[in-house]
Amino acid sequence: MSQITHRSETRAVKVGNVTIGGSNEVVVQSMTTTKTHDVEATVAEIHRLEEAGCQIVRVACPQMKDAEAIPKIKQRINIPLVVDIHFDYNMALKAIEGGADKIRINPGNIGKREKVEEVVEAAKAKGIPIRIGVNAGSLEKRILDKYGYPTADGMVESALYHISILEELGFYDIIVSMKASDVHLAIEAYEKAAQAFSYPLHLGITESGTQFAGTVKSSAGLGAILSKGIGSTLRISLSADPVEEVKVGRELLKTFGLASNAATLISCPTCGRIEIDLISIANDVEEYISTIKAPIKVAVLGCAVNGPGEAREADIGIAGAKGEGLLFRHGEIIRKVPEETMVEELKIEVDKIAEEHYAK
Ligand code: SF4
Repeated sequence: MSQITHRSETRAVKVGNVTIGGSNEVVVQSMTTTKTHDVEATVAEIHRLEEAGCQIVRVACPQMKDAEAIPKIKQRINIPLVVDIHFDYNMALKAIEGGADKIRINPGNIGKREKVEEVVEAAKAKGIPIRIGVNAGSLEKRILDKYGYPTADGMVESALYHISILEELGFYDIIVSMKASDVHLAIEAYEKAAQAFSYPLHLGITESGTQFAGTVKSSAGLGAILSKGIGSTLRISLSADPVEEVKVGRELLKTFGLASNAATLISCPTCGRIEIDLISIANDVEEYISTIKAPIKVAVLGCAVNGPGEAREADIGIAGAKGEGLLFRHGEIIRKVPEETMVEELKIEVDKIAEEHYAK
C-alpha cells in the first residue's frame, strides 16, 4: 500500500550545503562530546564523524568562549555546523556571526521580544535556519499545568508556540524536533507534529542509553516513525562515542531503503552447515564496505546449501564451501575461488560494482 508521507511534503530547509526536507533523503546528524572551545579536540572529533558518514554536526554552546570558537572550527571542517544554545541570545548572535549553519534555540525561551527579533534578523541576514527543540522533559510550565504531565498534545502545543513566534517575524526556515525518552510518547508526538505542521522533523529518542540498549531503543522508536514516512533528519543519541551514533543512524536508514549512498551487508546467522569462519569474514567485509557510497548489497554466507538462494537480492556475495568459496551475483554462482583469497576476490568484485554505480 503506498503511503503519502509527511517527509515528501515538508518545506525544504537549507543547512549549509545540505538540504533537510522536501524530497531530499533523510540526513544523519550527530553531536560532539568535546568542550567546543577546545578547537583541536572538537575539530578532530568532527573529522572522525565526517569520515563515518555524518552529514551535519552539532556542538554545544554553554559558554561565550564556545560561541567564539565557531569561526575557527568552521574553517577546518567540511560538513554544516549547528550550534546548540539555551536561552542566551548573545551567544546565539555570536554563533550566527561566527558562521554557524544553523542554530538550535527555542525562541520562546530567549526572553524579551527585542532579543528574539535580533536573533531572528541575524539568522535571516545569514540565511540560516533555526531548529526548535521540543523536549518532553522540559515543556513550558503552563503546558505541563494544562496537561498534568508531558503528553504528545502538549509537545505539539509547545512546538506550535515556538513556531508562531518565528512566523510572526516572517521567519520560516524552521526545523522541529519532538524528543522524548519514552518511545511511545515520541512516536505519538512525531505523528501529531507531522499532521500539525509541514516543517521538516528532526527525529530522536533522547537519553536512549548506552551503545547496546540505546541502539535498540532508538532503532525501535525511530524505525516506527520512519516507517510512517515521517522524519527528514535524525540523530541517534547514545552514551557512547558519537561515531557509533552515525553508524547506527546510517544502518537504520539502510534498513528502510532510505540511503542511496551506502552499501549493505547481508550475512547469515550461521548454523551447523557452516563451512567457513563466517563471523570474522562478515565483520571484515562490513568494515570494508562502510566507506562505499553506493546502494549495493553484499552477502557473506556460511554454506552453499541455502546460501546463494537465501541472498538472491545481493549484487555480489560469497558462500562457503569445503576449502573454497563460491562467488555469486543475484543468486547465480559466477565462479569458485580458493578459501585463502575469497575475501580479497569478493572485495575486488565489490569495488567493480561500486565503480559501475559511481559511473552512472
Ligand atoms: Fe546455515 Fe548455510 Fe544458511 Fe548460513 S547460509 S545459516 S550456514 S544454511
